Parts: sequence; C-alpha cells; structure tokens
Amino acid sequence: MGAQQAAEGQVGEGFEALYGAAPEGVWAAPGRVNLIGEYTDFNEGFVMPLALPHTAVAAVSRRDDGVLRLHSADIEGPVVELHVDELAPLTNTSWAAYPAGVVWVLREAGHAVTGADIHLASTVPTGAGLSSSAALEVVTALALNDLLDLGLTGPELARVSQRAENDFVGVPCGIMDQTASACSTEGHALHLDCRDLSIRQVPFDLPAHGLRLLVVDTRVKHALGDGEYAERREGCEEGARQLGVPFLRDVRYEDLESSLARLSDERVRRYVRHVVSDDHRVDEVIALLDAGDVRGIGPILTSGHASLRDDLRISCPELDLVVATANEAGALGARMTGGGFGGSAIVLVESSDADTVTKAVEEAFAAAGFTAPRVFPAVPSEGARRVS
Ligand code: ADP
Ligand code: MG
Repeated sequence: MGAQQAAEGQVGEGFEALYGAAPEGVWAAPGRVNLIGEYTDFNEGFVMPLALPHTAVAAVSRRDDGVLRLHSADIEGPVVELHVDELAPLTNTSWAAYPAGVVWVLREAGHAVTGADIHLASTVPTGAGLSSSAALEVVTALALNDLLDLGLTGPELARVSQRAENDFVGVPCGIMDQTASACSTEGHALHLDCRDLSIRQVPFDLPAHGLRLLVVDTRVKHALGDGEYAERREGCEEGARQLGVPFLRDVRYEDLESSLARLSDERVRRYVRHVVSDDHRVDEVIALLDAGDVRGIGPILTSGHASLRDDLRISCPELDLVVATANEAGALGARMTGGGFGGSAIVLVESSDADTVTKAVEEAFAAAGFTAPRVFPAVPSEGARRVS
C-alpha cells in the first residue's frame, strides 16, 4: 500500500471514530501548480495548470435531517455543526466555509442537499499558492455529486466550487484552480481557455523525458487581500478600455507593439505587455509540448518570470532568488507561479540535476537569511476522483 492509499484509509477510519459509522465513500481532489499563463484568467486568456500528487481527501456520508457536520484532521477543534437551511454567504470565516460554501451553492442551484457528515484531511500545503482551498471545495463537490447522483460534469463541479469561494467565502478567484483540481489527468498539463472554458489535456509526461518539475515553496505567505490583485485587475481593464477591446485576450500578440504605443500611462502599458505576452507564452509552450520538446519550454518559463517581476511587479526577493539560483545551478528554466508576493516557484530540471539545484536554492536561502524553503517534485497527477 502506498503512502497515498494509507492516508486515504486513515481518513475513513477518522470518520468512523468521529461519527460512529463507516463513511459511504472516500474522495480525493488535488492541489495544483500553474505551469504558464499568470493573471491571464480574468483577461479571458489562457492558463495551463497541472494537478499535484498532493490531495484533499474527504470521507462523506449523507444525512436527511438538514444537519451538516464538518471536521478536518488538520485543524485543532471540535466538529463544526451547521444547518443547511441557515447557510448564508460571508458569515463563516473559518475553514468550514469552503465545504459549507459548496453545499450552499448546490442548494442555490436547486439540488436537494439535505445534510452530510464530512471528515477530511489534506496533504496540499496551505497558503503556498498551491490551491489547498480549491482542493477542499472540489473534493466536497465531487463527493456530494456522487452520493446524490447530481450528474454534474468536471467543469460544472469546478464552477460550483469557484462560486463557493467567490460568493460564500468571499475570495475573488478565477476558474483555473478548481478546473485544474476537477479535470486534470495524469501525465498532462491542462490547457484552459478562460473565455469559453474549453479544456485540452496537453502531454506533459516528465518522468518519460527524464525531467523533473520542482516546486519551491518559499514559505512567504501571499497576501492578495492587500489590494494588489485588485489593482492589477483594474489596470488590465483600463488597458482593454483604452485599446477598445472587451478583454486583453482580444489584443493579438502580433499587434502588441502598436497597441502599447497607443496607451497613455506606463503602468497600464506594463500590465498589457505582461498579459498579452503571457497568453503568447502559453501558445508557445503548447506547441513545444505537442512536438515532444519538453526541454524547450525552460527559457519560456524564465521569460515568464521576468515579465511577472518587471512588468506586473508581483514577485518578491525570495521568488527572484529561487529563479536566479536555480538557473545558475543548471535548471532548464524557472518562474514564480500563482498570485505572487510569496508562495511558490517552479523549476524545470533534468532529473539528474534535481539534487544539485535543490541544494543550491537551499544554500542561497540560508545565505540570504530567508526561512528554509520546502522543495518537492510536481508529478503531473490525476484530478478529483472517488477512492473507495
Ligand atoms: P491556498 O488555496 O493557496 O492554499 P487559501 O488562503 O486560498 O490558500 O486557502 C487556505 C485555506 O483553506 C486555509 O486557511 C483553510 O481555511 C483552508 N484549508 C486548506 N486546507 C485545509 C485543511 N486540510 N483543513 C482545513 N482547512 C483547510
Ligand atoms: Mg486558494
């Protein structure tokens, strides 16, 4: 039995110890990293995340008395007991808001959710930009979908989960994280068009190519709440307005230079350049992966980082240090990933160089006086599924 199966079994046992009966089933949903395409989602552009091997696992049984009981093995504290009729958006600020929000969205959509017992545990690091919150939402949505026979598809479960986070928890995230968690397949990155929400599985079988994608969690907590995200979003909308297009997605890469020349201020020009060039980098990465040239994407990752650092200005010293050090130590390419101002970076390396690059990053962090980073490989993994 692998570590993952053991963890899943423990969640079932934990459920039984808490609630006095075995769960009806156990489900898992992964966290994600975004390979390329950052701050492009709300511009109706492209993103390309992949699912991590790390998952939120939930043991769940139905109830018919309107009671919703929630417990996390990872949080100190008793079972949270709520009533499905009394769920109201933006009132619950604890972790329980994520699963409760999913129940609320399903009920708002007319599905008869009459209560549930849920016990969960997660191996997705929290607050590291790896979407532990989406994993929690998607695993809840999938479990209820199966138990109540709702017939929702993966993309629909992602929508339900996003609405829970936007409208119930109150976090203005895009659709990427939940789609990655709900719809990814092993050995692939997931190309998502944030305009029509169409998805395509793009081959990204790292082990087969002798490569590794390292995730470096800087342990600096990203704080999107401080208005930086909203400021970038507003700047992008202003850029689209000045260029007379609905969204920056509609600016063709071939027209980037002439478009930039039409913009009045330097800040908006930088944001437009980032978004249009990052959409283009997604296209370039897909072309290379489809052609089997996985190594070729390295320099594109690194140029994506420069764009996030210099044009969007959402990096931080720790993330810049990961990218610079990894590339100097022989990585094929590296970039920050996620919302920025901390969180994680990804580094593409030959498998044989992984230890050298990891050591170089750890030493550079120690020399700079930064908290030791957490480094682990991101094997492109399967999306949400029932495990028992
Ligand atoms: P990220 O999604 O990048 O990890 P967020 O701030 O969006 O960061 O979500 C983290 C929050 O999700 C935590 O503060 C907690 O409320 C909830 N969460 C994540 N994992 C768990 C878990 N295993 N148990 C309980 N709550 C969790
Ligand atoms: Mg999150």
